[in-house]
Amino acid sequence: MNLSELKNRFSVKELDEIKVFTDNEEYTGIILPSTNEKTLTLKLKSGYNIGVGTERITKIEKTGEIKKEIPAEEKKIMQIDGLPLISILNTGGTIASRVDYRTGAVSPALEQEKLISNIPELMEIANIKTKIIEEMFSENMRFFNYKKIAEEIEKEIKENNPKGIIIGHGTDTMHYTSAALSFMLEGINIPVILVGSQRSSDRGSSDAAMNLICATEFISRTDFAGIGLCMHESSSDDNCVILSGTKSRKMHSSRRDAFKSINDVPIARINFESKKITYLKTDYQRKKEETELALKEKMEEKTVLIKLYPNFHSKQLEFYEKENYKGIVLEGTGLGHASIGTKAQGTEENGKLFEAIKKLSEKAVVVMASQAFFGRINMNVYSTGKDLLNAGVIPAEDMTPETAFIKLAWLLGNYSKEETKKLITKNLRGEITERSDIRGFKVD
Ligand code: ASP
Repeated sequence: MNLSELKNRFSVKELDEIKVFTDNEEYTGIILPSTNEKTLTLKLKSGYNIGVGTERITKIEKTGEIKKEIPAEEKKIMQIDGLPLISILNTGGTIASRVDYRTGAVSPALEQEKLISNIPELMEIANIKTKIIEEMFSENMRFFNYKKIAEEIEKEIKENNPKGIIIGHGTDTMHYTSAALSFMLEGINIPVILVGSQRSSDRGSSDAAMNLICATEFISRTDFAGIGLCMHESSSDDNCVILSGTKSRKMHSSRRDAFKSINDVPIARINFESKKITYLKTDYQRKKEETELALKEKMEEKTVLIKLYPNFHSKQLEFYEKENYKGIVLEGTGLGHASIGTKAQGTEENGKLFEAIKKLSEKAVVVMASQAFFGRINMNVYSTGKDLLNAGVIPAEDMTPETAFIKLAWLLGNYSKEETKKLITKNLRGEITERSDIRGFKVD
């Protein structure tokens, strides 16, 4: 039985106090929102959360419930004539969470009613419409979820024609999703801005409100069309930046300015106090008179991103060959290298690795990106690079490994192998720049 069926059968819902019975155990706690249909998440009296597999549950008894009423004034939705319509499609993550410290429950903070009471400023900038399309942490996202988000965006544009769309999203993998949406939504003619937060909205240091306000300000006044990210520019609350959907990366695990532009400058800066928008990039993608949105949402599942490192064994690649993988991004070292040289003593295994890479690239599309992130791949400098090029490995130019991985899966999903080999090195969505701008490479 899955979670919904269990809840129906025993007439229980989220925030109910319950006793759960399995064949040999008994748990008492409060039902929390679960991330999947196979697990019942419980807040125990001790304060810990546990997940109980739904298959193991034999009985649930309701013992009480926590009241969760939204005050009437929070439910009022203001619509002001003349303001643009901006839709917020929420997928989950910290930005969407408000933690109830009494129960430990995480509840969506991007529901229309809660947004109004949390961030009333938004209603002065635009008429906001919200929809929850997913409630998940971004580390759990798969290609399936990208497809669903892209479809929801297309639907929202067709049904409501908003000035722009904000996607509330967890930060862990936001740059993968933004890359996927950039490729999937061909010809998109409005701004779609992914917004995350490193600290949830009930914490004093939360970046949720400022990131959302900046994204809303930007969408309401910009001529940019395409996929971007909106996050803090620095660790203080002065500016947010709009970063390109294909040239960004999470570079810090906890700081609010975690996202940086890689090999490119941010598209724009929004000053939080003055609301001034400063464009930092001149050649950003602008809205066009006429363009047709074409949803190309297929992704090749048999695509992999492999980090190379010293002492990598050739056997580690055998699986992909056997399983007939179609796309392989190698995250190599420096300018695009792998341990393939055999001159030094004790490096015989490197020769086998070279043979394995060569064999793979006869069957699959093998692309080389760099774990150095900043700067370009250049496989013509050292013999290592040249040998790999001769073996059929294709350089990812100045794409991040993450963008190269998403692009390769997308190309293989929508084009032939030969077309993929050509298109991987062509700039389609701003993912490859002619001259890498590394102003984002700053260490303070
Ligand atoms: N792990 C969370 C996520 O990516 C973190 C966050 O939202 O910032 O969904």
